[in-house]
Amino acid sequence: MSARSEPGTPVADRATAGFRQRYGAEPAGRWAAPGRVNLIGEHTDYNDGFVLPFALPLRTVVAAAPAPGGRWTVWSELDDEPVEFGPADADEPGRVDGWAAYVAGVVWALRADGHDVPGARLAVASDVPVGSGLSSSAAIESAVLAALVDLGGLDLPAGRWPRLAQRAENDYVGAPTGIMDQSAVIRGRAGHALFLDCRTEEIEQIPFDLDGAGLAVLVVDSRAPHRHADGEYAARRRSCERAAATLGVSALRDVDVAGLDAALARLDDDETRRRVRHVVTENQRVLDTVALLRAGRVRDTGPLLTASHASMRDDFEITVPEIDTAVEAALSAGAYGARMTGGGFGGCVLALVDAGAADAVAAAVADAYAERGFTAPGTLTVLPAGGVTRLG
Ligand code: ADP
Ligand code: MG
Repeated sequence: MSARSEPGTPVADRATAGFRQRYGAEPAGRWAAPGRVNLIGEHTDYNDGFVLPFALPLRTVVAAAPAPGGRWTVWSELDDEPVEFGPADADEPGRVDGWAAYVAGVVWALRADGHDVPGARLAVASDVPVGSGLSSSAAIESAVLAALVDLGGLDLPAGRWPRLAQRAENDYVGAPTGIMDQSAVIRGRAGHALFLDCRTEEIEQIPFDLDGAGLAVLVVDSRAPHRHADGEYAARRRSCERAAATLGVSALRDVDVAGLDAALARLDDDETRRRVRHVVTENQRVLDTVALLRAGRVRDTGPLLTASHASMRDDFEITVPEIDTAVEAALSAGAYGARMTGGGFGGCVLALVDAGAADAVAAAVADAYAERGFTAPGTLTVLPAGGVTRLG
């Protein structure tokens, strides 16, 4: 029996309804974690560089209550069947697979960190699109983490949550992601973007007052099928690591724009030179974006977004026709800047637009898609939202 509610029901109500229907009891509480989008800074994370994500107003909500017997049962509205597991399953990555691995992974990471994790029943509902690059994975991990920390009264300062949730995804699920997603989802603050130094893991909240500037970010889900994304990602990463070794630096972060030409001259193939140029200039664009936002010049960041896209398209070569079409259509329709966001080969585009023009820009993107016969894109207008929280 499915506990899926009517479309349009708020996500927190769906989590509660799912919990009641599945377990025949009231949840002890509800915890919500947002998706995220990266404003700028692509493929800079594994080069020890800079990223600037912000949390989205779309959230994953976990309704939960302690359960006797020290086991965990989790149900998600994405799947009719709940999944149950115990400590032995949680302690061995691979024993729980599929979507529930994201939940078991959090239990695993907490236990590996020495915490006595309470058994629990959980029900998950989400408005974050799954697998679109808006980090539904970090959202479910972080909401589950918050629930288990609260239910167990665990002593775990928030500063350590991102690393723990990342471990769940890297080591239990087996997905090799950086620290950005979990940092944005956990530490995000309304009206701010999160400036993250991926080398030091230092974070800084940067005012990103779209609302005050009469602006919004339009997020376009390209709906492009992911083409060879894993292999291409690994190839880009290897290329960057080889270049860093050739240049005698520990990561491309150590090359700055002033030293770029000299660095490029020491590399002997054109493809590697283009890869390095993307990473070095992209790091600088993050720093430039942060400087503009600190000065309250939100609209002026547009050209940096567009330059980031050109760099991903021409130098890093990670865009696809749907993505380039969305960016071009948004710019033609008056966006101040637009770029692909996320690892590439599909995923989402974001565009900086006047709040009042968001619908028209979205319509222009949909028209351009229709002209080329692409599957219709998803569109969403957003302002930066807050990170993981317990709901009242
Ligand atoms: P993204 O994080 O970009 O959405 P990922 O592939 O990293 O894409 O994570 C998506 C996976 O996370 C899903 O395939 C599923 O296994 C899990 N997941 C995310 N949200 C939910 C949810 N609400 N219920 C169950 N599983 C979820
Ligand atoms: Mg993910």
